[in-house]
Amino acid sequence: MSDQKTILDQMRNAQIQDTYIHPADLAWVPFPGAPGIDMKVLRVSSESGTWTVLFQCAAGSGFPRHMHLGAGEYLMISGEMEVRGGVKAGGITAVAGDYGYEPSGMIHDWTNFVTDAVFLFTNHGPIQFMDDDDNIVGVLDWQGILAIDASAPAPV
Ligand code: ZN
Repeated sequence: MSDQKTILDQMRNAQIQDTYIHPADLAWVPFPGAPGIDMKVLRVSSESGTWTVLFQCAAGSGFPRHMHLGAGEYLMISGEMEVRGGVKAGGITAVAGDYGYEPSGMIHDWTNFVTDAVFLFTNHGPIQFMDDDDNIVGVLDWQGILAIDASAPAPV
């Protein structure tokens, strides 16, 4: 590539900003309301409300009943995740390498981890947690993700 092309690319890119994260340098922070589940916050967008995290889930842990108020996407990196009870209950059992998309409005009962698991997760909006009678017990949006992240130990 010519020097002139490189300079032109740098001028274009100076108007926007890319994100580069080295997750190994980040500390795991406990995810509230889900003992055994920790996360690393990779990116939060105040413009769109989208947030991307790495979740680390211990065997036996799980996320309580919730509704996605924005679509969610995940990529399993290791372990196994049972959504809506897993395939044995008519749901999904995601294993390492699997990708999933969860439309806005989707309700998930207990999402559990039968093995230790790590997965990349992006939600394009908040998540609303509910009890069994559909009473709202909490809403987690991008600002909540930032607040949780602020409680993380300083990077090593
Ligand atoms: Zn869900």
